Amino acid sequence: MNMVYRRFFYICSITLFCTISFGWLDRPNHSYAAILHEWKQKSSDINYIHTGSHEFTYWKNFMRHKRTCHISQKIKTTVYYCDLHNHTKSKTVHVETVHSEQHS
Ligand SMILES: [Zn+2]
Ligand SMILES: [Zn+2]
Repeated sequence: MNMVYRRFFYICSITLFCTISFGWLDRPNHSYAAILHEWKQKSSDINYIHTGSHEFTYWKNFMRHKRTCHISQKIKTTVYYCDLHNHTKSKTVHVETVHSEQHS
């Protein structure tokens, strides 16, 4: 449980770091004004990170039942490639929170 959270925040912090550093590169200032990139989407990847679970109750045959629902974070990573300078950048976004069981 703790490990999973740590992994999730690790990915988030890497993403933030990449966004900031690439943001700096792309910012047009005196030294980088001449640099233009040709970012083309190379691949995209969907990952699910399990972040926890919770119990929910439901009724069946006039009986109350308990079930465990697992929560995952759907993460999409897109990799871009620049032909001009032979380098890549990646972008990771949180798509949605997924519940393994259907419940209200
Ligand atoms: Zn480039
Ligand atoms: Zn749930």
